[in-house]
Amino acid sequence: MNKKIFTTLIVTIVLTGSVSVVLGWGVWGHNHINKGAVLNLPAEMGMFFYNHCDFIVEESTVPDVRKHVLADRAEGPRHYADLESYNYSGRASMPHTMSEAIARFGKDTLDKYGILPWYIQDMMVKLTDAMKNKRKTEILFLASDLGHYIADAHMPLHTSVNHNGQLTGQEGIHGFWESQLPELYGKNYHLYTGAAHYVDDIEKTTWDMIDSSYALGRPLLTIEAKMRKDNPEDKQYVMGKDGKVQKNKYGQPVHSEEYAHVYHELLNGMVEQQMKSAIADIADYWYTAWVNAGKPDLGDLDPASMTERNKAQYKEDMKAWKTGKIKGLRSDKEY
Ligand SMILES: [Zn+2]
Repeated sequence: MNKKIFTTLIVTIVLTGSVSVVLGWGVWGHNHINKGAVLNLPAEMGMFFYNHCDFIVEESTVPDVRKHVLADRAEGPRHYADLESYNYSGRASMPHTMSEAIARFGKDTLDKYGILPWYIQDMMVKLTDAMKNKRKTEILFLASDLGHYIADAHMPLHTSVNHNGQLTGQEGIHGFWESQLPELYGKNYHLYTGAAHYVDDIEKTTWDMIDSSYALGRPLLTIEAKMRKDNPEDKQYVMGKDGKVQKNKYGQPVHSEEYAHVYHELLNGMVEQQMKSAIADIADYWYTAWVNAGKPDLGDLDPASMTERNKAQYKEDMKAWKTGKIKGLRSDKEY
């Protein structure tokens, strides 16, 4: 992301106080998830994505820029679905498509409770179409954006009305889970997921990811709620010189490293697992769009010299990726 845009983003967030669902997975998370997905593609289409890896990584947080900096009102609901508000009881209880959702709930309700699962499906249709017609800019833009939304679907609190623990006295848990923990421990994660595979039923798979994400919301919250009871405030948080809880640049409380460590242990790999399955699902969806588009040769969309130049680096990155590591990123720190 351009530095100026990023600074504006921070200023906007601080000024408006709209901090609860700031960056979906956080910059570290979204950057690594989109790059992991690029590396998880089969080489026949992966090289094209790798040629544009920098763009795909930077673009991974742009949907949040649209939401906060550009105050694009259509953007917000794409990042979440408050399942409790929809009286969710499994996929069968929900409309299958965006138009069915609009017909059943009406646009105002969707704007309020979120459209994430239906939006992912719409993006897949658009991405497939862009691939079919070999529209390079659209392919890259739509694939990167889709990566962001699929990643958001793996953040359990994006599927719940209690998205920042505000209903259970756990404000700040959103950023704690999705940004502070990955920033502290992400470098030790093993994120390699095995080769991308074709998805037969996008609607079902999308609801499966939403459903399993939603199921994790409860343990995510209850584990921390219990810890909170056992620890006084100055053990939970980093305390500032003024004796108050220290906040990060988005106005979110900074948890102490000891507290973060215990929480991360008790979560028993949840953050790592969700990152990993976000990467796998994104690569699967990109690959499926490409197969459904008739496996177009994307190689000729770039100059041969560009592909040649990137080959050695691709090989290096792939070697690290096979050991579960994503190299070569420097993401803006939030905590
Ligand atoms: Zn988001």
